[in-house]
Amino acid sequence: MKVILYEKEKQIRLADREIPVIRDGEVLLRVKACGICATDIKTYLRGHPLIKPPVVLGHEVSGEIAESRNEYFQVGQHVAVAPYVPCGMCYFCQREEFSMCRDLFANSIDPGGFAEYIRVPARIVEKGMFEFPDGLSFSQAALTEPLACCINGIERSRIKVGDNILVIGDGPIGLMLAHLAKIYGASVTLSGMVDERLSVARQIADTVIDVRKDEIPGGIGFDIIFVAVGFPELTETALHLVRKGGYVNIFGGLPKGSRLAIDLNQIHYQQVILDGSFGFMPRQFRLALNLLSHGTINPELFITDTVRIDDVESAFEKSANREGLKWIVSF
Ligand SMILES: [Zn+2]
Ligand SMILES: [Zn+2]
Repeated sequence: MKVILYEKEKQIRLADREIPVIRDGEVLLRVKACGICATDIKTYLRGHPLIKPPVVLGHEVSGEIAESRNEYFQVGQHVAVAPYVPCGMCYFCQREEFSMCRDLFANSIDPGGFAEYIRVPARIVEKGMFEFPDGLSFSQAALTEPLACCINGIERSRIKVGDNILVIGDGPIGLMLAHLAKIYGASVTLSGMVDERLSVARQIADTVIDVRKDEIPGGIGFDIIFVAVGFPELTETALHLVRKGGYVNIFGGLPKGSRLAIDLNQIHYQQVILDGSFGFMPRQFRLALNLLSHGTINPELFITDTVRIDDVESAFEKSANREGLKWIVSF
């Protein structure tokens, strides 16, 4: 089978691999679509502390079951697959802090999403693989994972109807957070600096700020702010713009060792909550797929294009240059 192998920084290529062999309880999935994520791009551009090349990247997967050794799934079913699931038994899982699970990556899709076939381990088959209806395309279903991560952030923020939300960042994640916040009945402001993305943002948010020209309005401050870009100084911006008793979520991954000086009295007297979020739990993954299947979330707002496996390098380059929003690789 063909895979996209990440060999070193700025180097990916098509390679041949054996089709994985599945064991009892497992499923062999014929991958139909895999989204390119900001994490894949960061790894591609400058490496990743936890990812040792050569390796097959990709974790936003949908496909068709090619072989099943699990009684609950049959050949031919269309499914979205979580790249990992929590163990359910460790200290953190018992406290429902699933993305802190000690064993989170102990079972993951093999070899990675950018492959013609993947082996889905039994634990993921049982907790993190869900069928979706014909009305949803494979490319659309590949949005389940990033959307699930956004649901996690939104739920952590304890958003309420009528809240004033600011999303800093106009990438796919920023736009998904804004879309979800609207569904929750919030009033949403989104700030960014890429024309093409800002025009999509205008279809989602109540107010869109082009930070190259305009300032984000101050006033009493926002109830909830998501920082959906990986620049530490934007968390500082968020802390200036949040209201007393408000909530700031550092959603975008940051370079290792990022530091920020904060006024601790803003936490003590003004009771601002500074939080972060990472990953998702299986329940949120299923919810994300439902929102996409039912059309509550419009997937087409986020998908820029679906490219064939042979064109993946150009899609990586375009994604790295912030061209478009979500690029999907099809197989
Ligand atoms: Zn992702
Ligand atoms: Zn666990």
